[in-house]
Amino acid sequence: MPDGRIDAAAGPSLDAVEMSSADSRAVLLARDLLRVPSVTPAGPEAFAPVEAVLAAAGFTVRRRVFSEPGTADTINLWAEIGEGGPHLAFNGHLDVVPPGPEASWRKPPFSGAIEDGELWGRGAVDMKGGVAAFLAAVLGRLDARGGDPGGRISILLTGDEEGPAVNGTRKLVDWCVAEGAVFDAAIVGEPTSRHRLGDTVKIGRRGSLSASLTVAGVQGHAAYPERAANPIPPLLAVAAALTDPPLDDGTEHFAPSNLEIVSVDVGNPSWNVIPGAARLRLNVRYNDTWTRDTLPAELERRIAAVPLPAGVSVQLAVEAGYGDVFLTRPGRLVDCMAAAIRDVTGLTPELGTSGGTSDARFLKDLCPVVEFGPVGTTMHQLDERVPVAELDQLALIYGRLLARFFGDDDAPGAR
Ligand SMILES: [Zn+2]
Repeated sequence: MPDGRIDAAAGPSLDAVEMSSADSRAVLLARDLLRVPSVTPAGPEAFAPVEAVLAAAGFTVRRRVFSEPGTADTINLWAEIGEGGPHLAFNGHLDVVPPGPEASWRKPPFSGAIEDGELWGRGAVDMKGGVAAFLAAVLGRLDARGGDPGGRISILLTGDEEGPAVNGTRKLVDWCVAEGAVFDAAIVGEPTSRHRLGDTVKIGRRGSLSASLTVAGVQGHAAYPERAANPIPPLLAVAAALTDPPLDDGTEHFAPSNLEIVSVDVGNPSWNVIPGAARLRLNVRYNDTWTRDTLPAELERRIAAVPLPAGVSVQLAVEAGYGDVFLTRPGRLVDCMAAAIRDVTGLTPELGTSGGTSDARFLKDLCPVVEFGPVGTTMHQLDERVPVAELDQLALIYGRLLARFFGDDDAPGAR
């Protein structure tokens, strides 16, 4: 679909939402989102329910499709309301990972079934539940304040977070910035809670670097090694140098960086041939000791320190497009998030940095960003589901976050 503003009357109306209480609005919204199969990249029908409610609430809603050769076109949505500051952005994705064998699900993966207090479906926790909860919080705030957000709020949704993410949040935020948007803070509604809603907020993510290493030698007859240069012993020596000693001991907010050799490949079917080359592939999950520049330099330094026999050379090739490490240092946003969680759950969240990369990496250079959302136990699994009470509570937490961030008079500690 081409770019354009979305008319409130254009999309299907969420009739059930109008009649529900603010608390269960999150559940009904999530259910409607879950009923749309939206395996990456999410199609326009996945965005329609969101566009309808946001336009009806007074948001300026815009949609753009980003493209790049070799990747799928991706729909992105930017909805904005309010004037002046501060400007808070909620970020999420409407695409989901494939459901796997549908017959193995206890409820169909795109049914949005609600049973025994749980809402079922692919994306219930990752992350249509979180999206529905922050939408419900924002809509509830507008209802309560006669349509005045009390600041500026942006909703940033993409249809490709689970895939290559080339045409997703990265380009979406570039577009916002090109249009003059200045964000003061961002929340990503990914499932960050571990055991109970509110036990963990992610204030950073480790970086991820993948690289291939090739050791080139000289092929030859196993009976005449003096005429060959076997690349395998040097490869083993290089592997040892890369993994020992450890890259670091961890930092204040991060676990130690970890280098995993994920494959060693020679592919030699013969018993009497010394192979000409040997390769390995590695992945590093790295903390804020390193950057995307200093880490490859450290790997090169370790490789260069290994003495190589004559005729052997080593080459390291870093894969493009990896996620860099980031950390949002404790401050106003983290304080507001933690306080909102305490307001609703009584829990003091752990400020974590574990797990894989997320779209927060595309927001980190614009403003402080934290991730907070449901308990992630069933994400990407068969029978993905979320307790409806958890979604309601999550919406309440996002609502408290808005009140605290915008300094409402009734927010404890408001300024
Ligand atoms: Zn996700």
